[in-house]
Amino acid sequence: MPIKVPNNLPAVEILTKENVFVMTDTRAMTQDIRPLQILILNLMPTKVETETQLTRLLGNSPLQVELELLQTSTHKAKNVSEEHMIAFYKTFDQVRNKYYDGMIITGAPVEMMEFEEVEYWDELCEIMEWSKTHVHSTFYICWGAQAGLYYHYGIKKKVLPKKAFGVFLHTLEYKTGMLFRGFDDEFYVPHSRYTGLDDEAVFAHPDLRVISTSPDVGIFALKSNDDKHIFITGHSEYDGDTLRKEYLRDIENGLDPEVPYNYFPDDDPSKEPQVSWRSCANLLYSNWLNYFVYQSTPFDLNDIKTGNKPKHELVTDDFDLITVKFGGSSLADAGQFRKVAEIVKSDSRRRFVVASAPGKRNSDDIKITDLLLKSQAAGDGADEYLNLIEERYRGIADELNVEFDAKAEVDAIREKLASETAEELLDYVPSRGEYIGSKLLAKYMGFDFIDAGEFIKFDAEGNYDKETTEKLLSDELFKHEFAIIPGFYGSMPDGRIKTFSRGGSDITGAIVAASTGSDLYENWTDVSGLLMADPRIVEKPVSVPLITYRELRELSYLGAEVLHADTVFQVASKGIPINIKNTNAPLDAGTLIVNNARYYSDAQDISGLSGARGYMNVTVQLAHLNENSDLREKVLDVFASKGIKIETMMTGVDSMSFLVKESFKDAVEDAISEIKGSMDGATAETLGGLAMIGVVGRDMGTSPNIAIKILSALAALKINIKFLDHGAGNLHMILAVDEKDYENAIKAIYQQFA
Ligand code: ASP
Repeated sequence: MPIKVPNNLPAVEILTKENVFVMTDTRAMTQDIRPLQILILNLMPTKVETETQLTRLLGNSPLQVELELLQTSTHKAKNVSEEHMIAFYKTFDQVRNKYYDGMIITGAPVEMMEFEEVEYWDELCEIMEWSKTHVHSTFYICWGAQAGLYYHYGIKKKVLPKKAFGVFLHTLEYKTGMLFRGFDDEFYVPHSRYTGLDDEAVFAHPDLRVISTSPDVGIFALKSNDDKHIFITGHSEYDGDTLRKEYLRDIENGLDPEVPYNYFPDDDPSKEPQVSWRSCANLLYSNWLNYFVYQSTPFDLNDIKTGNKPKHELVTDDFDLITVKFGGSSLADAGQFRKVAEIVKSDSRRRFVVASAPGKRNSDDIKITDLLLKSQAAGDGADEYLNLIEERYRGIADELNVEFDAKAEVDAIREKLASETAEELLDYVPSRGEYIGSKLLAKYMGFDFIDAGEFIKFDAEGNYDKETTEKLLSDELFKHEFAIIPGFYGSMPDGRIKTFSRGGSDITGAIVAASTGSDLYENWTDVSGLLMADPRIVEKPVSVPLITYRELRELSYLGAEVLHADTVFQVASKGIPINIKNTNAPLDAGTLIVNNARYYSDAQDISGLSGARGYMNVTVQLAHLNENSDLREKVLDVFASKGIKIETMMTGVDSMSFLVKESFKDAVEDAISEIKGSMDGATAETLGGLAMIGVVGRDMGTSPNIAIKILSALAALKINIKFLDHGAGNLHMILAVDEKDYENAIKAIYQQFA
């Protein structure tokens, strides 16, 4: 596509010679698409060169781009004629009522001054403020980046010990982002600056995401989490000889500059510099235009002011390896086996498949694992259940036309049950559901079968042995192109089979993902992700698109059941995202569970709403109770000694208040009498019949709006809040209401966020 620039801009002639398709105002565009409106605030002294460089990069895109150039009115350009500026540049007053898809703020030769000392600083601040509501995405270069970071995020710049001058090596911090999509692991960019960012402050800033750094010159690229601002500290746009010109200029000005690093062959300024950054520069600008401007800008530019949100950035195309786990309902019968095979085979990155034992086919059915447990408990009556199991597997195999000896598999269990003691068997029997089912699935799909007993290891105390397992598993798995691994079990050092707790195939899946360094762990089940509220209370609740590992932990604690609670621990340290998907609706996006939601902007205000009836509030009062740590400890000790689990706790100067399950009622009475008996003057009150509601969301602590919405939803229904805890870690809000108000409260809160 051509790039449209003002008539007669000098860039046209140069770029036309280079075969960059440039179009001037007078040639009308006929395509039935809206060209992207890009504004360049050109603060560089070498205006014409910068115009040409940026036009060249923006023109290398299949998108239609229309450029406008902006100058500051508080500063007159010195190195370019006034006519040029009048002919091609607008002032802020001329554009302030317009909207732009993108804006570039260039570098400027003012980096050694304080921002506030710069002649046009106030005007620049006004432009940056205006950009928040009038520009979809802004790209800041070099000093422009320092100014933007200072204005929007309070990040200071600092003087470097030595000028960063030359062509430096860079690497990516954030590989799956869109801005550097398609980049090599290492690439080069010119820098020319005396100052740098306060890198530590940038890394620590919760709204900023560092994308690329250089070992020599620090942070190179970063973006705001909402994708509105892209900051680039180097000069990808430079021409091959720009650094040479700067070098010669500095010599002329008597500055005695060092030879630009890694630029001239043999560092010999008389030789012709080699360009090593051009391809990356082209890719960077076309990625920005495509992903940060074109793909997410509204069709109607006026909508920019309403603050449209860009799509989240999970680039599944960039993932090479996916571990998948299918739950029991996904493997309940032959039809489900077919769906599983289809899902796995539709994407060759799904190389390692973890399978649960066949689950229920309908609500009256019994899971294979439960049949196995029954067979083990039935003693002589085991066969009743084992026959059912044999039939289930045979039925599936027959329907799938797979030759499979279900009898031989179940006979092996029969023999073991007859010859070994319960202690020798340990968890062997319940593990066979996964073992036999996975063998059958492997045969059906033509995948290799890998017995989890050989590679997933527990220590002598029965704790999962992560280190040994990950090594064994990764060595083994990579010998196979495609493999099925049964979930739920592993083995003890003495070889006996040991299972995780119920639902443990989720953990096996996470272990396989971690051991193989998978890019994604897909956990396939029968719901399209984590629902925002209990479907028994809220009709057809929406599923949550994105939550963090920590939010998932909170939600599981509050009773949401999707994944085995220990699953995240296996993948969290490696930052592998988990995607909950629905085998029966594979195209649904499901829920993505990530380490840090800041990298994705598809977020909802809250991530879930959970709760239950059957709680009570206990308040203990005593002068100085909370001030005096001995007294406070004493109360907590008494509660602990009675085995009372505290859900949440609040303190006042002379009081402590606890929310506990009503099942602890007797223990609470005991605790109260002990406290009253041993702590002079202590009184206590209890209030039962409460329901606890937990609202989880990562922005709980930073968005006042969320609390207001929750509380006003309840106020509108005149529901009295008996207990309110705005949560530790800014992740949740816990409320207690009368049990009779429970369902209405959940519905009302849900309505606010759905
Ligand atoms: N089959 C086992 C259970 O029912 C493990 C699993 O499905 O994850 O608990």
